[in-house]
Amino acid sequence: MPFDQLYLGGEWVDPTLEPIVVRSPHDGSVVGEAANGSVGDIDRAVALARRSLEIGPWPRLAPEERIAAVERLAAAYVARADELAELITRENGSPLLFSRIGQVGSIATMIEGFVAAARATAWHERLEGPYGPYEVVREPVGVVAAIPAFNVPQVIIIGKLIPALLAGCTVVVKPSPEVPLDALVLAEVVAAAGLHDGVVSIVPGGAGAGRHLVAHRDVDLVTFTGSTPVGREIGRVCGEQMKRMALELGGKSAAIVLEDADVGRTAEGLRFSSFINNGQACAAQTRVLAPRSRYGEVVDALEDAIARFTIGDPLDLATEIGPVVNRRQQAKVLASIRDGMVDGARVVIGGPAPIDGLEAGCYVRPTLFADARNDMAIARDEIFGPVLTVIPYGDEAEAVRLANDSPYGLAGSVWTADRDRGREIALQVRAGTFGVNRYGPDPTTPFGGFKASGVGREYGAEGLRAFVEIKALHGV
Ligand code: NAD
Repeated sequence: MPFDQLYLGGEWVDPTLEPIVVRSPHDGSVVGEAANGSVGDIDRAVALARRSLEIGPWPRLAPEERIAAVERLAAAYVARADELAELITRENGSPLLFSRIGQVGSIATMIEGFVAAARATAWHERLEGPYGPYEVVREPVGVVAAIPAFNVPQVIIIGKLIPALLAGCTVVVKPSPEVPLDALVLAEVVAAAGLHDGVVSIVPGGAGAGRHLVAHRDVDLVTFTGSTPVGREIGRVCGEQMKRMALELGGKSAAIVLEDADVGRTAEGLRFSSFINNGQACAAQTRVLAPRSRYGEVVDALEDAIARFTIGDPLDLATEIGPVVNRRQQAKVLASIRDGMVDGARVVIGGPAPIDGLEAGCYVRPTLFADARNDMAIARDEIFGPVLTVIPYGDEAEAVRLANDSPYGLAGSVWTADRDRGREIALQVRAGTFGVNRYGPDPTTPFGGFKASGVGREYGAEGLRAFVEIKALHGV
C-alpha cells in the first residue's frame, strides 16, 4: 500500500512536508516512506475533530451504535493482523513472534474488554438523593489528542483510540516517527469501519507536531505514552490549560526473588519479563532483587538463561532478541552499559562490544550486571534496552524498601514458593501492576503507573473512564 498520504477525518490528504524515511533497525535498509504531518495538518485534523464533536452525529449516537462501529473496526483489524505485525517488526525490530502474539494478537481481546466496559456503563443514570431525584450523565470528554511511543505502537494506539471512540470522543492520533507505517495501515482499517467524517485523524509526525497538538486550545484531553521527561512537559502544558491528561510513562520495575523461590523457574520467567521486546518495554522487570543467601545462584541462573537467547533478524520467527529501534537508542543503551561498568558493577554476560555479523544493525548484547547497588545509574534510570541488573538484599523489608526506592512505580513482581507471602509483598510495593511468579501484560485489566510512571490507568473499565466527563442534572 502507499503510505504517502495523511488520514484527516476520513479523507486521504497529500502532506506538504518531506516524507519520514523509515529504516530497518536490522540492516539499515529502507522499509518505507510515510507521510509526515505538519502543524498545519494537525490544525486541520483538530478542526475536523472539533466540528465533528460539536455538530456531528458521533457523540450523539446511542452507545450501542458506537459499539457496532467499533466491532466493524475490530473485524477489519483482524483481517490485516499479519500484515500489521510484520510491518511493526520491520519498523522497530520487535521479534516477529512478539509482534504477532504479544502485540497485534492481543488487540481483539483488548477491544472486547473495552466493549464490555462500555456495555456495563450507565451513560444515563437516574438516582434518588437526600435532596431529591437527579440524573448522572456520562459524556465524552471531547477532542482527544493521542500520542503514542514507538515500542508497541498498535497496542498503545488501540488502547487510546477505542475507549475514546466508545465514549463518543473524536480523536487525533499523532503516531511516533519511528513507526508511522503501521499507523497508516490502521488508518485504512478505520476507513473500512465507516466512521463518520472528522471522528478520527491519523497524522504521523515528530516532536514538533506532538507539541503543537498538545498545546492546541481545541484539544480537551491528551493521552500520551512515552518517556517521563516528555510526560512532564505535556503535564505542564495541560495543567496550565486545565486540560485532561492521561500519561503512561517510564519504569524501572523490580523483580523480588524471595529466599524460597525456585531459582530455575524464576530465571526462565525473567528471561521473558525482563527482555520482552528487546528490553524496550515500559514494564520490563529490569532490576532483580536477590537475597544475599542465594545471590550467586540467582546470578548464575540468569546468566544461563541469557546465554541461550537467539539473537538476530527480528523477522525470523526463532529470534528472541532483535535490534533496538535506531542508532540513537543503541548509543544510549551502550552508554548506560559503559556507565554501569565505570560505576563498579560487574558485567556477567553481554557488555558493550558489537555482535559478530550484526554490526549493520542496532544490536546490543543482552547484558547482565551483578554486584550492583540501587543508587547506581543502571539501577535508577530507565535504559530501554536488553540490560538487567541484580542487586543483593538482606531481609524482605530491605527488598521492599529497595523496590520502592525508585522514582518510578509502573510494575513489579515477586518470585516465591509461597503465594500468600508473595501477595503480602505485592501489597507493599508502590507500583501500578504486580505479578506473583510471573509478569506479563493483560490488555483488559487496569494498567498504569504510580509516581513518575504516570497519571491514570488504561484498559478495561478504568481505561474507558478516562474519556468520560460526568454531569449531574438536578430537577429532572
Ligand atoms: P518519547 O517520549 O520520546 O516519545 C513519545 C511520543 O511523544 C512520540 O510520538 C514523540 O514523537 C512524541 N513527542 C516527543 N516529544 C514531544 C513533545 N515535547 N510534545 C508532544 N509529543 C512529543 O518516547 P519513546 O522513545 O517513543 O518511547 C519510549 C518511552 O515510552 C519509554 O520511557 C517507555 O517506558 C515509555 N512507554 C510507556 C508505556 C506505558 O504504558 N507506561 C508504554 C510504552 C512505552
